Formats: sequence, structure tokens, C-alpha cells
Amino acid sequence: MPPKYLYIYTIGCQMNVYDSEHMAMALAPLGYLPARSPGDADLVIVNTCSVRSKAEQKAFSILGRLGDDKRRRPGLIVAVAGCVAQQEGARILARAPHVDLVLGTRAVHRLEGLVRQVESGRRPIVDLEMIDGPEAFEAPPESADRGGVSRFVTIMRGCDNFCAYCVVPHVRGRETSRSPDLILSEIRALVTAGAREVTLLGQNVNSYGAKEGLCSFPELLERVNAVEGLARTRFTTSHPKDLNEGLIRAFARLEKLCPHIHLPVQSGSNRILERMNRRYTRDHYLDNVSKLRNSCPGIAITSDMIVGFPGETQADFEATLDLVREVQFDGLFAFTYSDRPHALSTRFPEKVPVREQSERLQTLLDLQQGITFARNRALTGSVQEVLTEGFSKQQASRGRSKSAQVQWTGRTPGNKVVNFDGSAGPAEDREVRAGQLVSVRIERALAHSLWGVLDGGETAVGRPRREVGHAA
Ligand code: SAM
Ligand code: SF4
Repeated sequence: MPPKYLYIYTIGCQMNVYDSEHMAMALAPLGYLPARSPGDADLVIVNTCSVRSKAEQKAFSILGRLGDDKRRRPGLIVAVAGCVAQQEGARILARAPHVDLVLGTRAVHRLEGLVRQVESGRRPIVDLEMIDGPEAFEAPPESADRGGVSRFVTIMRGCDNFCAYCVVPHVRGRETSRSPDLILSEIRALVTAGAREVTLLGQNVNSYGAKEGLCSFPELLERVNAVEGLARTRFTTSHPKDLNEGLIRAFARLEKLCPHIHLPVQSGSNRILERMNRRYTRDHYLDNVSKLRNSCPGIAITSDMIVGFPGETQADFEATLDLVREVQFDGLFAFTYSDRPHALSTRFPEKVPVREQSERLQTLLDLQQGITFARNRALTGSVQEVLTEGFSKQQASRGRSKSAQVQWTGRTPGNKVVNFDGSAGPAEDREVRAGQLVSVRIERALAHSLWGVLDGGETAVGRPRREVGHAA
């Protein structure tokens, strides 16, 4: 079989990164190898996101460029997957007639068969079928590709929460949890292939297993904690309305569970939270934050925020700024609100003008930048356990030289990026490898990362890993 090449554009969240990895694995039996660029590929998949309108526009702009490629190379196969595929279906073919395959969000495990059909001349194909239930999850591959130190594992799909602004329940379907046995066998395969850290993915991990009568999320974390060879566990996303004592205690109990939680708040105003259908109040959120900090001192907390939601007044926005000052997040993903198909708030009047949205976003980002920097600065002088992922970007671009300083990159338990000099530690500890847990002394804080020097070789999994800052 002559080699064929596959290129995947991945737009959006970690779930799409995970799905893209599985698409590549599903197509390996057909002889597809990874292409270095779309220009070298026989098959290009655009794995799309429709959470915000900008992400959707990006998908259509890539598809436009692929139309030009296809005119030059008519044999090229173009596929669209992910949320825009599910949302737009056959309408994509009207906008981009060069598309051969439209693949919905629950059709990844049918990809191999569908590509076979396209290759044998049947095109275009649109497959949007959504089968619900745990049985609809594909079996994990027996062995995983050697894809790196830190990997994603989907534990649930879809969402039942219907936040007023959100397209996810409409394009990813109802919430469905995957069986713990499938999750664990996938994690073991990843560890055998070299992974040391896994991030468990779901839109609201707190409700894992509830509908299906599987184990609870803290119980699942406990089983993952016992996987031999795994050093770290992370998860995302936890919905503040469902965060419970069991999960809060898990941070104190499970030595592999990293002290970091992404807890999207979306707004600091009760009026807006209610209009968003988030089903918690500002006080409830703040209470969660203090419980987490009491149970796990030094825990890193990050969040998502939407500014310019329909009807958001200056006073509502001030309440958001106020909450950000109070919580002192380690990091914040902030977005301007955009109308999404099927989302309830698309029909809300009182849209905030785009210019005002952008100004509010900038104010919020400026505030958070100062906080992130201050929280990073508080870590200077401390020694952090870092899971080495590979050479830093700078090192990768200049290649490895024996004499020069060798820069590595990795993350702290609190998920902060650390670039460090691997040639500066004690001689016996200088043989750094990707996948190693090393001790790094933090020397400098930057806006989005930390800089340090190697302070010791491989550390043992299981020692306390709190990210306590040096007294400022
Ligand atoms: N399940 C997660 C939760 O409950 O927070 C969030 C998932 S969503 C894919 C990621 C983020 O996108 C949200 O937290 C929200 O901040 C943002 N987002 C979703 N819909 C949006 C919209 N219509 N406009 C702007 N931002 C949006
Ligand atoms: Fe969207 Fe809300 Fe579900 Fe998160 S919880 S995916 S924001 S509907």
C-alpha cells in the first residue's frame, strides 16, 4: 500500500485535541501517516469548534483555502468534523462544495468506514447520527501512539446544563459518561506508551456517572490514582453548582491529583448569572473557593469569564471585576459574548455593543494580567516539582548543543509553565528526559510563565506537592 498522508486542523477545546488523536489512530489501518503540512496531505480534516462565532469563522476560512488547494489537486479529500459539522450538516456543502465528508461529533469511530467509502468514489457523505448511552463510546485502542508525556482522556460527552449562551448541548448531545473500565484501560495504554500525566475531560465532571449509575467522580479519581506509572492526574471542567465535598476532599487525599482546578465562573453579577442559567450565586462560588483553599492550601484556581452578555450593565461588569480582585485567580480565559445558533440568549434583547464589549474585555484582561504576574512572582525562590515535557520552544528552534545551556519546559502541579536550565544542576542530575519529574528552583517570574534552574534530579511520586509561594 503506498503511503498516504493526513493533516488535521484542530480548532477549539481539549476534547477536539483528543478526538483528533483518535481520528489519526482510526485512519492508520488505511495507511494514513501524519503530513507535515496541508499541502503534503491526501486527506485534510478540519476538526471545528462553534462555541464562539470567531472559532466558526476560522473553520470556514480554512475551508475556503482548502477549496483553492482542491482546484489544484482534485484528488485531495476534504473532511469537516466537530461542532460546526454537527451544527451545519449538509449546509456546509452549499458553502464549501469541495467538502467530501461531514462528520458529526459522535461519528469519530465511524471515520475509517466513511473514508473508505469516499476513497471508493462515494461523495459527498454527511454522517450526523448521535447514538446516546455509554455503549456508544468506542473501545479504547489496545495500544496508544507515542504522543507525549501529558495526554487527554474523555470521560464524558455532551452536556445537560443548557447555559443560556452555550451551543454545546445542541451540538455535542446529552451528557453521557463512559465506563470506568474503558477509561482505566485507555489510561494504562497511554502510560505504557510513555504518558505520565492524564487530564480527564468532561463538560461537567461533577456529574460523572450519575445518570448511568456508574461510580462517582471522586471514586473514579481514586481508581486513576492507583494506576501504576502514572505520576499526575488533572481534570476539566468542574461546574461550580455541582462542586461537592467529595471532590474538595479528593485534593487533600489523592497524592497524584494536581492542586489545580479550572472552575468557570462566567460573571461576578448574580443578575447575569441568573440570566445565564448558571444556577449558582456569586456567594456560592466564593464559598467554593474558600473551601478549596482550606482543604488544599496553595491550590491554583483558574476560570472562564464572558463579558458583554446581553443586558450586562456597567454595574454588572464592576461586580465581575470585583470578584476577580477578591478571588485572585491564577489565570483567566475571558471572552466577549457572541450569539450562537440554538442558544437561548441569542433571542435576548439588550445586546451590548461590540465596542463596549471589547473595552470591558481589555479592562478585565489588564486586571488579570497584574494578578497572574503577582501570583507568579510569589513563587520566585521556591522549589517546584516540574513534569518535564520536552525542550523549550527556544531550545527546539536552535537545536541541542552540548556546550550551551539546555532549556527544558514543563509544568508545576499548579499547571504553571516553567522553562528551566537543565545544565545548571548538580552534575549527576543533569541528564534530564521528557517525562521526568524534577525539582526546579524558580528564579524569575514572567507574565505567562516561570524561569528556573534544575535543583535536583527525578523526584518520587507521592510526596506533598503544594505550590506554596515564597514569602513576598
Ligand atoms: N463546560 C464548561 C463550563 O461549564 O464552564 C465550559 C465549556 S465552553 C466549551 C468553554 C467556555 O467558552 C465557557 O466557559 C464560556 O466562558 C465560553 N463560551 C461559551 N459560549 C460562549 C458564547 N456564546 N460567547 C462567548 N463565550 C462563550
Ligand atoms: Fe456549555 Fe454550560 Fe454545558 Fe458548560 S455547563 S458546556 S457552559 S451548557
